[in-house]
Formats: sequence, structure tokens, C-alpha cells
Amino acid sequence: TAVGVPRESAAGERRVALVPKVVEKLRSRGVEVVVEAGAGLGALIPDELFTKAGATVGDPWACDVVVTVTPPTREQIGRLRPGATVIGFLAPLTSPETVAALREAGVQGFAMEAVPRISRAQSMDALSSQANVAGYKAVLLAAERSTRFFPMLTTAAGTVKPATALVLGVGVAGLQALATAKRLGARTTGYDVRPEVADQVRSLGAQWLDLGIEAVGEGGYARELTADERAEQQKRLEDAITGFDVVITTANVPGRTAPTLVTAAAVEGMRAGSVVVDMAGESGGNCELTEPGEVVVKHDVTIAAPLNLPATMPEHASELYARNVSALLELMLDESGALAPDWDDEVLAKSCVTRGEK
Ligand code: NAD
Repeated sequence: TAVGVPRESAAGERRVALVPKVVEKLRSRGVEVVVEAGAGLGALIPDELFTKAGATVGDPWACDVVVTVTPPTREQIGRLRPGATVIGFLAPLTSPETVAALREAGVQGFAMEAVPRISRAQSMDALSSQANVAGYKAVLLAAERSTRFFPMLTTAAGTVKPATALVLGVGVAGLQALATAKRLGARTTGYDVRPEVADQVRSLGAQWLDLGIEAVGEGGYARELTADERAEQQKRLEDAITGFDVVITTANVPGRTAPTLVTAAAVEGMRAGSVVVDMAGESGGNCELTEPGEVVVKHDVTIAAPLNLPATMPEHASELYARNVSALLELMLDESGALAPDWDDEVLAKSCVTRGEK
């Protein structure tokens, strides 16, 4: 099998789907790797490091398997061979046209978003690896924008109280945000509509904010709230939020617009100099005043909604992603290194979004 690694073409995307260490591992499984010239440059990985690891530089789109970070464009899909396989974030819920184009081209697609979140597939869980990067980075952005310290300081010039940080939506990104804010010395609190998260929040030394609204959906994800629940949640959060210096939001429901958790009134109630980092900008945002991709100041509160945070840490984000992608690929390889997916395997059956049949 030959695996192609393209240079990512989406604006601002600095990650690459494989890194040299992982190339070496795949080579040892009998897989050839073809990288596009400059594929790793965004992550500061020169072509030489790929070739040293056993890859060749060439046209990745002509390979049997193409691994990507972001969904391929229509033009790129047009360069794939019928019967080829693409593995990457394919946005099956938010960009069904990509899946349709892959199907039309007779290409087999595996979406990293659709890898089931079961223990056996943890090594392939790219949503988690990238959410960890994002959760960490969101806290650093908040600290950078804040007019106040995160840690408590006892100095000759007086004592500074620690910042208080609230994380709304405590999935993988939220847990990492809580852990990072704690390491910087903030007093942390977590909130979610999935009550099972409470113990995880407490184990990170954070307080659990209980607003009495539960919304557990399918597959361990949250469900969308009803209109009444939503209004009640916003009202209760409005009261809670005003006491915090930093609010980091990560709430998402797969395939839906992100819920509004931080209303304009809540922002107005926050102390001047406070910061909201809205990590749900890609799906519309959790804060009513969010402008996705922008940093705005409203009522003297900074509201940042950075997009694609993992791309801002391309080295480690690529390294983790490459391990996820290669673990999924290796699951499909037989002993000779040929592609032979077992469709009875739940991980492959669920992550496959097109079977390469027209
Ligand atoms: P996500 O990005 O889809 O959402 C982030 C968080 O927002 C979730 O915790 C969700 O409950 C919360 N949320 C949604 N609507 C909300 C609302 N109205 N108010 C408050 N919070 C709201 O989540 P994720 O990080 O991708 O994690 C989703 C699930 O996957 C979790 O159950 C997680 O434990 C599970 N998971 C399992 C494994 C595994 O076992 N291998 C690995 C990773 C994640």
C-alpha cells in the first residue's frame, strides 16, 4: 500500500497528517509513504526529515490511501483514483457535500470524527487529541488577554488574589482547560449538562457548578436542550458567570449549532477586564456577543473566539494526530501491509462514511 500525505490547503492550517516518526513505523509495516513537497512546512518539518524516515516526495493524490487533516476540496477529490481511500477529518455532519463528492468519485472515506469513542479506539480518537491542544491553548489566550494575574501572589507590594476561571462544557477540551487554568494558579469551576462529568471536574481540583439541568444524549454526548431548559439555563448561568474573571466555553452538540450559554446580559454583568474565550466559534459560538475568528471588547470584557486552535500548535497537534490516523490505518492492514478492512470491526464500520461504491 502507498499512503499519500498532501500539503494541507485550508487557510491557516499548519498541521500535517503524518510526521516522520510515524512514517518510520508505517514503513516497518510494509507501507510506502509519499509526501507532497512542503507538506510538513507549516509544522516546521522539512521534506528531508520525511525522506530520512523512509518517505518519498511525490504526488500524494495518486496513492491508494491519502491521509489528510482537513476535508479534501472538490479539486483534490478529482485527483483521487477510483477505489482510493481517504482518511481524515471529513466533516460528515457539517459538510455533507464532501462525503457526497467522495461517493461520486468512487472513493472510500474514513472520517476521524466518526471513530466511536470506545476504549479500544482511544488511540484513534483524533477529536480528543486535538481538543486537548485546543483546551490548553484557550487558557493561555485567556491569560494573555486578562488584565489580572491567574495565580495568587504574595509580594512586598501586597497580595494578589487568584483569578477565578469557569469552564462551560467539560468534555475533553474543557477538562484540559480546567487542568491548565489550575496549573497557572486560578481557582477553577466546571459546568456541564452531563452529570457524570462532576467527578472528573472535582478530580482536577475544580468545583462543580450544579444548575440542576441534565441533558444526556446518545453515545455519551449531550443532547440539545428544549427551549424552556435553554431559557432556564441562561438565566441561572447569568447569575453564576458574573463572579468569574475568566470564562472558557466549549459546549457543543454534534452536528448542531452551539448552544448560547453566555448571554449579552451575562457579559455586561462581568467585571471590567474579564475575559471570555469561546471555543465553539466554529459552530456559531457559546457567547451571544461572539464574532467567530475575532477578538472583540464589549462592556470592557474581552471576548475571543479563536478558530482552529490546534493549528496554532502544529508540531504537537500533528504528532498526536499522526498517531491517531496511523492507528486507524494499521487496523485496516493485513500482515503484508495491504489494505484489507474487516467490516465486522465496529471501529471501521462506524468511521467509514463512503464505501467506494457509486
Ligand atoms: P463535545 O465537544 O461534543 O462537547 C463539549 C461539552 O459540551 C460536552 O461535555 C457536552 O456535554 C457539553 N455541552 C453540550 N451542550 C451543553 C449545554 N447546553 N450546556 C453545557 N454543556 C453542554 O464533547 P467531547 O469533548 O467531544 O466529548 C464528548 C463525549 O465523548 C464525552 O462523553 C466524553 O467523555 C466522551 N469521550 C469518550 C472517550 C473514550 O471513552 N474513549 C474519549 C473521549 C471522549
